[in-house]
Formats: sequence, C-alpha cells, structure tokens
Amino acid sequence: MRKLVEPVPIAVRLSGASRIVKQMLNKDSKVYVAGHLGLVGTAITEALKRKGYTNIIGRSFAELDLRRQEDTEAFFAAEKPDAVILAAAKVGGIMANNTLRAEFIYENLMIEANVIHAAYLHGVKKLVFLGSSCIYPRDCPQPMKEEHLLTSPLEYTNEPYAIAKIAGLKMCEAYNLRYGTDFIAVMPTNLYGPNDNFNLTGGHVMPSLMRRIHLGKLLENGDFSGIRADLKRRPVDGFDGSETEEVIMGLLEKQGIRRSEGLRVGESQSQVQVAVWGTGRPLREFMYSGDMADATVYIMEKISFRDLVPAGATEIRNTHINIGTGEEITIKDLSLLLKETTGFGGELVFDTGKPDGTPRKFLDSSKLHGLGFRHGTSLRDGAKKMYDWYCDDIKAIGSSEVGNQGRLV
Ligand code: NDP
Repeated sequence: MRKLVEPVPIAVRLSGASRIVKQMLNKDSKVYVAGHLGLVGTAITEALKRKGYTNIIGRSFAELDLRRQEDTEAFFAAEKPDAVILAAAKVGGIMANNTLRAEFIYENLMIEANVIHAAYLHGVKKLVFLGSSCIYPRDCPQPMKEEHLLTSPLEYTNEPYAIAKIAGLKMCEAYNLRYGTDFIAVMPTNLYGPNDNFNLTGGHVMPSLMRRIHLGKLLENGDFSGIRADLKRRPVDGFDGSETEEVIMGLLEKQGIRRSEGLRVGESQSQVQVAVWGTGRPLREFMYSGDMADATVYIMEKISFRDLVPAGATEIRNTHINIGTGEEITIKDLSLLLKETTGFGGELVFDTGKPDGTPRKFLDSSKLHGLGFRHGTSLRDGAKKMYDWYCDDIKAIGSSEVGNQGRLV
C-alpha cells in the first residue's frame, strides 16, 4: 500500500481547497479504466490510446467484481494505478431501474465506495467518476445546472440509481476536502455509439430506435437473411433468427415493424411502417460516446478539483461537471435523421398510445464549455458512425461466429 494521503486541515478545506496540488500525468502513467468493456469504457480506452497513453489497464467483471472490497483493494495494491476512470456501473433503462431497485442502489454504492476509497488508500493522483443526468430533480428547471442538485424530489422510477450516483459525487467532494485527493465527478447526458445497448425494448433511445428502423429497411428490401443475422447477433425475446419467416414476421409486427396495410394496386408492395414510441415531440440531448470520452480525458489531464471550487466559498458543493453538447433535438427529428442514416424508404408512424416520458431533458453544459471543452461530432456524423459500426459488427460475427469483436483493451 502506498503512503496514505494526509487529511487536509479544516482551515484549508474551508479556504477553498486551494492547497490541492495539481499532479501531472504523463503518457506512461498507468490509467485504470473501470468498466473498460462497456459503451463508455471502450470509448475512453480508445480516446486514451489516441492521446498516446501506453499503460492502460482494465479488468472484466468476471476478472474483478468491484462490489468486493477485498478484491478491489488487492487489485489497487498490485497495480498501483496513477489515474482511474470509473465507468463501471450497474446501468439500465426505466423498467430495469424501477424493478431492480435494490440491485441498482447496492451494486452502484459498492462499486463507487470500493473504487474511490481504494484510490485514496493507494495514492491515485486523479480519478474521474461517471455519474448521470438522472441525479437532478424530476421537475428540474431546464436546462439543468450543477447547482440544481438536491433542490427538490427525484424521479421515482430511478431514485435508487440516482441516490447511488449522488453518493459517488459526494464521496469525491468529501475525499478531496478531507484528504486532499483530486477526484472529479462528471455527469454525462444521453450517450450513444459503438458497443451500445441495442436491445429493442430495454436499450437506450437512440440505438434501439436505429435498430428498429434498420430492421424496417431489411424488411422493405425483403432481406430475410439480414434480419436473421441481426436476431442471431442480438436475440429478441429469445428469438435468434432460426425461426420460420412467419414467426419472424410476427416478432417484427409485435415491435411495430410491419408491411403497410391497405396498399392500392400499383403501389409498392414493399412499403413498410416502423412505429416510433410516443408523439415524437419530446426534446432530448445526445452525445457521441467518443466525444464523452474526449471530455473525460480532457478533464483527467487538465482540470483539478481546485479549479471547480468557487473563490471564497464556505460550503463547497456542486463541484461536479455536466457533460453535454448544448444541442437538443425532438424524437421526431431524430427518427427522420436515423431514417436517412439507415436508408430506410418506408414510413415512420408515431404510436401516441406509448408514453412520451418527460417533455424535455437538457443539461446546461456551460461549466464544461467554460473549462475549455466542446464536443466535435455532429449528431448526423455520430449516427453514421454508430450505424456503420452496427452493420460491421453483425458482419464480423456472421463471418467469425465468435463473441464481441473490438471490446478488448
Ligand atoms: P455499460 O453497461 O455499457 O458498461 C458498464 C460496465 O461496467 C460493463 O463493462 C460492466 O461489465 C461493468 N460492471 C458492472 N458491474 C460491475 C462490477 N460489479 N464489477 C466490475 N465491472 C462491472 O454502461 P455505460 O458504458 O453506458 O455506462 C458507464 C457509465 O456512464 C455509468 O456510470 C453510467 O451511469 C454513465 N452514463 C452512461 C450514459 C449512457 O447513455 N450510456 C449516460 C450517462 C451516464 P459487464 O459488461 O461484464 O456487465
């Protein structure tokens, strides 16, 4: 175990954490990416490599369960990382958050407590903890600013997850104030990109919508081998593409992907409709995972906790950083963009019987912008990159019949 970082005296804490020494990292510094096989973890690993980092380490869930304190501390003692990016978490959609309430609070609290404490014990110079925009109140004013944290009740469905993420960001602040560590919490907006969750019902908005429209295109082209390959790669409700055409048509129909009814003679028989949940009116913000990864590396390299403490503050809070693009889009416009990206020629139908969710969810990213970072990938380019990755991934699996490619450090 490295020498413990000495606690910072109270007078220093209240005088604004100005004594926290900005510790420099170099390209040989050992960077541990916790959750390196996930959507964000893979993008961060790639960003570190692009930046020239040569000593990046990761452990899969099977190799190291971060809920286990002893194992986590043994790993830190053996590896002694210089920097940590904490992107390991139990994540999921509304349904999973609402039903697996105990798992979401327990697993995330354990992962955060073990990793942040071990980072302190072993003298980690910089830690970046990834939270989520769901930390903000249900009826938060829009756009959501860092100081809106804990100003009114949270959304019920993901309250356990949000509480765990708030605990993580408060741990970073508390350890910095007490021990002089340099741990920074970032709160990203909705992310999308390669290695995303393309589950049709439980996945993230953008990848699952893209996949539905892609399946619509395959149906439009009568490309059943393409539909089978898609289902084989990511089975839906236990269907893996080995079923009859009729059964597959039933499955697609259930997902709102169907041939149009009432076609008149002379009209294209291949006209296909894809249902989009809700009215299409809600506004959402999306950031490409590669941009989020660049923001994380930027913060790891250039920003210190002391940069985030307002001068003269007597109570230090809300030092976390929102990470977003500052741009919003309606679900309708996003659907049209994805239609163009996938080359789907059919019709999008808005299923108003399905819930819209909150009308607007938009982060105020002015603190991030003020710190000198702006995203570089437009939604159009990011959607294209994700779609190309998705198609290549299915082809790669089809040809090699092995597990996920491109998920290794
Ligand atoms: P993923 O589910 O893609 O990745 C999470 C990773 O954590 C997986 O590799 C998972 O391993 C690993 N993991 C989970 N539990 C454990 C454990 N007990 N021990 C070790 N590893 C574990 O999630 P994302 O990449 O999307 O999210 C990463 C972070 O970014 C999360 O904190 C999330 O809150 C945050 N975030 C994500 C957003 C998004 O839109 N995706 C938006 C805002 C924030 P395995 O794959 O083996 O299960």
